[in-house]
Amino acid sequence: METLNDIAALERFRPQAGEIVLIPTMGALHAGHSSLIRHGAEMAKRVRSGRGTCVVWIFVNPTQFNDPSDYARYPKTLEADLSLCAAAGAGGVYVPSKDEIYPPGVDVRVPRLPSVATEPGLEDAKRPGHFAGVCQVVLRFFEIVKPKVAVFGEKDWQQLQVVRAMTKREMPEIEIAAMPTVREADGLAMSSRNRFLTSEDRARGLALSRALKQADTAPTLDRAEHVMAEVLREAGIVPEYAVVRDAETLGKPGDGRKRALIAAKVGSVRLIDNAEWGSVGK
Ligand code: AMP
Repeated sequence: METLNDIAALERFRPQAGEIVLIPTMGALHAGHSSLIRHGAEMAKRVRSGRGTCVVWIFVNPTQFNDPSDYARYPKTLEADLSLCAAAGAGGVYVPSKDEIYPPGVDVRVPRLPSVATEPGLEDAKRPGHFAGVCQVVLRFFEIVKPKVAVFGEKDWQQLQVVRAMTKREMPEIEIAAMPTVREADGLAMSSRNRFLTSEDRARGLALSRALKQADTAPTLDRAEHVMAEVLREAGIVPEYAVVRDAETLGKPGDGRKRALIAAKVGSVRLIDNAEWGSVGK
C-alpha cells in the first residue's frame, strides 16, 4: 500500500493504480470505514479495464465544520488508520496537506448546492455551512483524484443524498456507491466521535438506534415520529430532529421510499443515526 502525501505522488501512482475507487474519510477510522474500503477494494477488482485500485483519502476538512471546537478536537490517529486501510485492502492512501487542498490566496469553488442540501431543515438547518464545505471538498478531491467510483456510508444519509445530487450535476461520469451503517454489537452506530462519549452518555446514546427500531414497528408516519420522541425522552434526550422523510429528497414523505432520521446532542457529542422506515410495506 502506498501513502501519497501530495498531488505529485498521486500522479506518480496513477499509472500503476489504473481506475480509482475512492473512499473519502476524515481519518480516525473504525469498522464502518473498513466496510467501505473492503467494498471499494472488491469493486476495484471488477473495473472494466481490469486494473483498478481502492484509494482512501484522509483529510479533516476545515470548511465543513460549523463548530470550531469540534474541528479542534477531531481525533487524529494516522498510524492506526494506515494499518486499517492496508488490512481492508486499500492500494493507496492519499493524505494531503491543507495548503494543497486550499492553496493560500485561491478561492476553491463551492458548487451550486442541490435542494437536498438546503431545503429539508435537518443537517442543513442544524449545521449551517456544513454541506457547502462538504460539496466544496468532495468536488475538489474528485477533480484531483478523478475516481471511477466513490463510496460513501449510509450513516450520513443526508450527506449521501447531497453528494449524489451534486455529483450528478457536476461530474456525472463518477459513480456514487453506498454502504450500510456498521453498528456496535449493542446497536450504537459507529462514529469517530463516539470515543468522546462518557460511559453514561454512551448508554443513553443507545436510545437513537432503539428509537429507529421501534419506529419501524409503528403503523403510521405520525405514530413513528411520536414513538421516536418518546424513546428519546425516556432516555433524557432532547432531539434536534426525529422525523420520517422521503428517502431521496428528505422532503415530506410521499409514495416513495422513506427514511427515519435522528440527530441529538448526548453529553458533549452530537450523534446522528437513520434507518429505512416502512421496510415492512407501509
Ligand atoms: P467520516 O470519516 O466520519 O467523515 O466518514 C467517512 C465515510 O465513512 C462517510 O461516507 C461516512 O458516511 C462513512 N461512515 C462513517 N461511519 C460509518 C458507519 N458506522 N458505517 C458505515 N459508514 C460509515
